[in-house]
Formats: sequence, C-alpha cells, structure tokens
Amino acid sequence: MNTSSPTRVRFAPSPTGYLHIGGARTALYNYLFAKINGGSMVLRIEDTDRNRYIKDSEKQLIKDLKWLGISWDEGPDVGGIYSPYTQSERTKLHRSHAEQLVNIGKAYYCFCDKARLQSIRSKHKGYDEHCREIDTDIALERVTSGEEHTIRFRSPKQGTTTVDDLIRKNITVKNEQLEDFVLFKADGFPVYHLAAMVDDHLMGITHVIRGEEWLSSIAKHALIIRAFGWSEPIWCHLSVLTQPGGKGKMSKRDTKTDEQDDNHSIFIHDLRSKGYHPEAIINWMVLMGWSLDDKQENFKLADLEAVFNLERINPSPAAVNFGKLDHFQGKHIRQMSDSEVAANIQPFLLKSGITPDKEMLLKLVPLIKNRITTFEDSVEWLSFFFTKEIMLSPSEFTNKKSTKEETLVILQEVKLTLEQLPKYKHENIESELRLLADKMNLKLGQLLNPVRLAISGQKVSPPLFETLELLGDYLVNSRIEKAIKLLENI
Ligand code: GLU
Repeated sequence: MNTSSPTRVRFAPSPTGYLHIGGARTALYNYLFAKINGGSMVLRIEDTDRNRYIKDSEKQLIKDLKWLGISWDEGPDVGGIYSPYTQSERTKLHRSHAEQLVNIGKAYYCFCDKARLQSIRSKHKGYDEHCREIDTDIALERVTSGEEHTIRFRSPKQGTTTVDDLIRKNITVKNEQLEDFVLFKADGFPVYHLAAMVDDHLMGITHVIRGEEWLSSIAKHALIIRAFGWSEPIWCHLSVLTQPGGKGKMSKRDTKTDEQDDNHSIFIHDLRSKGYHPEAIINWMVLMGWSLDDKQENFKLADLEAVFNLERINPSPAAVNFGKLDHFQGKHIRQMSDSEVAANIQPFLLKSGITPDKEMLLKLVPLIKNRITTFEDSVEWLSFFFTKEIMLSPSEFTNKKSTKEETLVILQEVKLTLEQLPKYKHENIESELRLLADKMNLKLGQLLNPVRLAISGQKVSPPLFETLELLGDYLVNSRIEKAIKLLENI
C-alpha cells in the first residue's frame, strides 16, 4: 500500500433493501475517515446480484444517507473521474479483468451447469474442480462457440494466506479451505468478490472500512488482488452489531430486534419518520464500536470530523441499545432553540391533520421540550390544543379517591374560580387553584386531575397552569362545562 497517496475510501452498499444502522455506521466511519484525512469518499452501488436487487432501494439509500448528513465526493448521483459508480454499468471492465486472470493462469473457464453443481453438492463441500484442468485453448474454443460458462478463480490448495487488518492484525486462512470460487457468472454479471476488488483498484481506494461479515471473504479478496499484482488497501473490519442484550448477531435481513417497539427500528427511514433527529442518530451510531477516550460521549457530526480515528475502533461486538438513542435524542432536543424544535415538530402535527398556529406552537414548545423523546411524541402532547372536540370518557373521572359527586363539585368550583380571575395568567391560575384546594381540603393533585382530564381528554398533559393559560379562558370554560354535563348525565 502506497501510504503517500491521498486517502480514498468507499461505501459500497448493495441495493438489496433499506439503509439500516449497520450500513449507516459503515458509511459514517468511511465519511469521517475521509474528512479527517482530507481525502475523498466514493459511493459505489454494488448491484450485480440481480436476484437480490430491490428497485428504489438505491434512491432511498441516497436519501437516508443525505438526511443523516453523510456526503460523498464521487458517486452515481454526483459523478466523478472514475464514473460509472454503479457496478452493473461496469460489467465489461469486470469481464475483461476476469479474462485477464484466465490469460495468466489464475482463473479458468468452467462449463458445469446448475444440475451438475447440484448433484455434486452432497459429496463435495464446494466445487469439485471438474473444469480446472481443461486445456486453455479447448476451453477458449468452447467459450467462443457460445457455450454457457462461468469464470472461476484458481485458488491455491496448499499453504496459507495471511492478510493484515488494521484492527484485528494478522488473519491467516488455510488455503485448503478455499474452493475455486466463481468470479464471473453465466448471466453476464461479475460476482461481488471480483467486482469489488477490481473497482477498488481502479478507483484508487486506499482503505477498505467495512462490516465484519466480510472478514470471511478477506482471503479471497487478497488473493484476487495479489493475482493481479496490485497492492492491497488497508483493511479495517468493523465490529459486528448485536441485538440488544447480546442476543446474537443483528443481520441486515432482520426487520426487528427483540427490543424493537413502535418507536425503535434498525432502519434509518423508520427512525426518521418517527421523528428522531439525525444528529442524535449519528451520536448514537458512532459510539457503537468506537470511542474517543472512553469519557466523552456527546458528539456532533462536525466535532467527529475533527477527532475520528480508526485506531480507537473496538473489534468486539457492539450491542444496539435503543435506550441510548433516546438518551442522545433527548440531549439534542434540549440543545435546540425553541423555534428549531417547533420547525421539527410541525411536519408531524401536519401529518396527523393538525395545522398549528406558528405563534401558538412556539409558546407550547417550552412546555414539552423536556418531555418528548421523538418529534412525533409531540402529537400526543399537543393535539388537544388544536382539536375542536376532545374525547371524554366519563368513567375516567371517577376513581377510588373521588366519586362522581365529588368530581362534579371540584369541576364546578374550579370553573367558578377561573371565571372570576382578573388576569388569565398561569401565576394567577396557580395561586387561586392552590387556595381553592386548601379551602376544599383537597390535595392539589386531587383538584387538578379532573381538570386536566376535562380540558385535554388525557391523564397526562404539559404543566397544567401554563396549559390553561395557553388554551385560554373560552376553551377551558367550555371544556369544563362539557365535562360537568357529561358527569351529570350518568
Ligand atoms: N456490497 C457489499 C455490501 O452490501 C459491500 C462489501 C464491501 O464493503 O466490500 O455490504
């Protein structure tokens, strides 16, 4: 590896599904490593496995990465000097490289069809090398005559292959374990192993930072590169992400983790639609397998661009902890200005059919800023401010502590007190209602609970005195009156 060349990294997703935190973390680490070294990041779409291809996932992937704040210098959407960046548009290059390996004896044409391969599967662990020794000229003739074929790598059968990983150090594989794997398929597409190595070389990639799942292919990759006589990139295989509680590896095909609930998902677009902030997700993800000094845990993307390093990557499995995500989300919300929070909340209110008055929303934000986790949570906290009719269920007004009659008296007294207020300000509301509770020999909570229910339809609401002030006397009175009528009629 020529260390004097400028750093070039790549994120090379396959468009086989939506971006999840495993892929996003890999993209993030690549992005940060390029930034800190003043290098470049390439986005390469690895779409040569046509069976697993999912239309639209590339578009969504780009959208999700951008939303997180991760950008790249070259890629299918922005172009670059090594265009094209979509592998299916590079198959000619892959083919010519595979043929090059055949020409130098490092690969060979294989004419075994599916049926044959199936029939040997039970007897052999891998391919039985049936076509390995076919004479090159004869093989070439068969290829030229149009016979269906693949190109296989001529793996060494003796000795070992050792690869150096930046974090894991030497990884040695016994060559006898390697089968003669396919490089180029009969369908005209390369296999990922060949395509990725050819493209990494042609695109001048200096560091390959990727998921641990590719560690098992490292010998294949190194052998391909060495067969061409190219220099190897610096390899860096990240830690595996495990399900919360260490219950096993989290895979790309998992749509759920055990801890996953309505708010939590491993997919970036789900987290986005739930109202998580991208900076909170970044902060959460970067610490899954990396730390600066085991102390600092609050990071923004811009901070990370100045401090990230590969040396501090921890190869041990990292658990996905959604509680931590909520923790960072809370922190990020608290750091935002009220108007920023309002701007983030607004789309969720609109989605639920509420068109909030901007000024009013800005007044409400301080009441809930410390109470919400996701921006979507705000809908539950605030919708009663904006809906004309709230739903009341009479059974909720009575409980062990107060009978229907007692609740009725409370609501009537509160209504009377509020109607007589000279100023409808939360300070006045508070002092008068405290006095009333004393006078009625009730605990403040006993007095306020039915009021809260009457004006919000909920047992939980933002702080009640401020809520009453912001709802305004007209709405408060009419809602309490409605509750009174409801109770009188049961
Ligand atoms: N296309 C592979 C994936 O989807 C990338 C492997 C690599 O980074 O080399 O994960």
